[in-house]
Amino acid sequence: MKSGWVDRDAEAIVAEGAKSGIDRDLALRIYTTRLLGRDPKLVLHGGGNTSLKEVMRDRLGADVEVLRVKATGADMAMIDLAGLPAVRLAPLRKLRALGEIGDDELVGIERSSLIDPAAANPSVEIMLHAFLPQKFVDHTHATAVLSVIDQPDGEKKCAEVFGGRLAFVPYVMPGFGLAKKAIEVFERAKPSDGLILSKHGIVTYGESAREAYERMIEMVSRAEEFVARRRKSVAAPARRGAAEVAQIAPIVRGACSEKDKAIEGAWRRLVLEFRATDAVLNFVNAKDMARVSQAGVVTPDHTLRTKNWPLVLPPPDPAKLAEFARVAHDTAGQFATRYHRYFEQHNARVGHIKRELDPLPRVVLVPGLGLFGLGRTKRDAEIAADIAEAWIEGVSDAEAIGRFESITEADMFDCEYWPLEQAKLGTRKEPPLMGQIAAVTGAGGAIGAATAKAFAAAGAEVALLDVNFAAAREQAKAIGPSALPVICDVTSAASVRAAFDAVAAAFGGVDIVVSNAGAAWQGRIGDVDEDVMRKSFELNFYGHQRVAQAAVKIMLAQGTGGCLLFNVSKQAVNPGPNFGPYGIPKAAELALMRQYALDYGSDGIRANAVNADRIRSGLLTADMIASRSKARGLSEKDYMSGNLLGREVTVDDVAQAFLHQALALKTTADVTTVDGGNIAAAMR
Ligand SMILES: [Zn+2]
Repeated sequence: MKSGWVDRDAEAIVAEGAKSGIDRDLALRIYTTRLLGRDPKLVLHGGGNTSLKEVMRDRLGADVEVLRVKATGADMAMIDLAGLPAVRLAPLRKLRALGEIGDDELVGIERSSLIDPAAANPSVEIMLHAFLPQKFVDHTHATAVLSVIDQPDGEKKCAEVFGGRLAFVPYVMPGFGLAKKAIEVFERAKPSDGLILSKHGIVTYGESAREAYERMIEMVSRAEEFVARRRKSVAAPARRGAAEVAQIAPIVRGACSEKDKAIEGAWRRLVLEFRATDAVLNFVNAKDMARVSQAGVVTPDHTLRTKNWPLVLPPPDPAKLAEFARVAHDTAGQFATRYHRYFEQHNARVGHIKRELDPLPRVVLVPGLGLFGLGRTKRDAEIAADIAEAWIEGVSDAEAIGRFESITEADMFDCEYWPLEQAKLGTRKEPPLMGQIAAVTGAGGAIGAATAKAFAAAGAEVALLDVNFAAAREQAKAIGPSALPVICDVTSAASVRAAFDAVAAAFGGVDIVVSNAGAAWQGRIGDVDEDVMRKSFELNFYGHQRVAQAAVKIMLAQGTGGCLLFNVSKQAVNPGPNFGPYGIPKAAELALMRQYALDYGSDGIRANAVNADRIRSGLLTADMIASRSKARGLSEKDYMSGNLLGREVTVDDVAQAFLHQALALKTTADVTTVDGGNIAAAMR
């Protein structure tokens, strides 16, 4: 590991900070915090923290000694001034005299000592920073260091690797107790460079930002070299194809879902993120994987994102997927049972004061295939997968130099159920579609894009399918980094299959499909070309059938129900003159929806349709609106709002109707009309 320090960058951030009154030390504290944060071998997703002690002027003009420490859960790679709240040091130091202190009381004292009362909560490791006397303190969970210290003889290995420059602090749960233990060890040993926190991480310090940072790099490099010399080289493993991942992911996802006990028909679902690097494959394929994978986390705060153990499934045989699904469900059931037992046992130990989290795995290992990270959102799944990859590296290297040993199960429980750790996840109210995956066809167009946006706003992960990939990509970009653009020509069975494979591989499956892609053809039915009729049926009927078939296949593999939504037109029930080539396949689409509702209701798959009319979109362009309103002698506004309510209907109204149908768990075979009122087109 090389130092990332560059004089020119450091001076640039100092000069930039000076403009807004940030002093040199603080600017360099921000700089090296970012340097540490950008290397996943040092810190991952809110783990790790840094601090600076300095004198600052408080709001009343008095000079006070403060500790600036990373805010809890803040990402070091993107730290800024707000991510380093300033806390008065004197009251924190006095706490050392206390035997112990409750979490709430400690947070209360921290908050009342903040210079800015509105600042973010400081890191849970604040007291460690406060007690150490050095000006700059850096703390990471560097993977290579964890490999060295997560050992039965971790202390001995530390002495060998770090040569007495870091003192060894035995494992104590993060927080006040650890801070007290650490300062005790520090005062006795007076190590030159920092501390090792057993089974947890490393602390370095210094009188300048650069000194503390470069000590961290030097010590981590020592650990890396020690490990690298002993690491066994392995051949690159065989890799399975993307189509196979797409077949297996929905089975895994279904096995790792649970029925919502409160609402019939509702499920608690997770989103998946697949990884299959050489390191991952070598780990999941290894002979001793069953033992090693259950040995626990490499550092305590990972339990929050990965739970204590992954779910391990058998290697899937693509020819026997039904058998794989059966075993996957059994194994996931055993995982949940083990989790309940673990919770009961340790909750009893602490006096039954905790509320159980969901028992679903956050990491799934599949021999021959790779690993899945799981989370309530795609982002959470990615974080779980990132941490699982670091865990695999840490454990594999620990085994290469000795034997991996984690903290005890009781210690893991204390971290997993520590309110201050859980606070890192934030207190979020879950939106109604969280955990669900929605695929929308024709998502590059106006109605499809508005629908994808509405589903994303309701918490779903969205895939935007369109024959025009650039249009889908643009709309996905507007929604956010997790939205997935996928090329899909619904007139081609192969294209539809490939698109749904891509969705299943990216998210783990699909729960809601909005079959929306379509286009209009005209002609008087008596003399219209058969070619025109066939073309329209290809897109406006078979297109929906192909999409629904592909979706149902995935939904059945998941076994958690699902929802098919069709965009039918007013034409399906109230044909317009010379619109037969469009209206007739749309009428067939309406029948298609009812058939799916009938045939798959017993699988929990609902099918509904939205019947919209006169929406500004690719099917009703500005030019068409101009010419049609002119032909009727109406203003454009009167033409567009020519309905019972006298209100123009927009793409967002259509999107909200689809959303309503996705949420109405007891509604299937329904047609929801979104046309401002048109008696001739009313369903009877
Ligand atoms: Zn830590």
